[in-house]
Amino acid sequence: MAGSGKFFVGGNWKCNGTKDSISKLVSDLNSAKLEPDVDVVVAPPFLYIDQVKNSLSERIEISAQNSWVGKGGAFTGEISVEQLKDLGCKWVILGHSERRHIIGENDEFIGKKAAYALSQGLGVIACIGELLEEREAGRTFDVCFQQLKAFADAVPSWDNIVIAYEPVWAIGTGKVATPEQAQEVHVAVRDWLKKNVSDEVASKTRIIYGGSVNSGNSAELAKKEDIDGFLVGGASLKGPEFATIVNSVT
Ligand code: PGA
Repeated sequence: MAGSGKFFVGGNWKCNGTKDSISKLVSDLNSAKLEPDVDVVVAPPFLYIDQVKNSLSERIEISAQNSWVGKGGAFTGEISVEQLKDLGCKWVILGHSERRHIIGENDEFIGKKAAYALSQGLGVIACIGELLEEREAGRTFDVCFQQLKAFADAVPSWDNIVIAYEPVWAIGTGKVATPEQAQEVHVAVRDWLKKNVSDEVASKTRIIYGGSVNSGNSAELAKKEDIDGFLVGGASLKGPEFATIVNSVT
């Protein structure tokens, strides 16, 4: 743990679940024993946020998986930050690779979303990460720095931001980054913040890792100095496994 504050573990449920399966997951989470020294956040699909908020222990905060770029209004199909706050969300995940690469969101749009969400008091889980071909071409740092710069150019303050480094080749593939690979990028990200934002932001911002984290690999990853937590997809859909990942904090 290098950033300040607590180890941070987020569960990104993506577009999964039904009323019944989510009720089971919530009840498993409510009965799990979670290390007190960890910030725990789950991101249900929008439709189930209210159900989760009304049934989940207050020990766990709620995040959205996306938000609209500005104030709500005539934006068919979108969900505004104001509505997310109304339902009790504290966080929003922005810049996730599935939104960048499948939906086509670009750096500038993501930066604007982050600035708006922060301006309304939501915390932002700001995702960055390279594609496999970018890693193979030796462009990992360039890609991550460019995505970071878009956030840095847009946001007035880093007080309420957690950075999630999620190599795209590791997301949902079962191919987790090695602790060394993750640590190397986290150090580079911290160094970038130091040079381009400030010493203070570099030392206090939490940088979490995401991409095929599970109960079998989280403890080794958590030992690395600059890994300040996890963003967990598939393994967050199983309550006991997610609890094990939360409790892998060292
Ligand atoms: P995964 O997803 O754990 O299923 O690889 C991580 C994420 O997309 O946040």
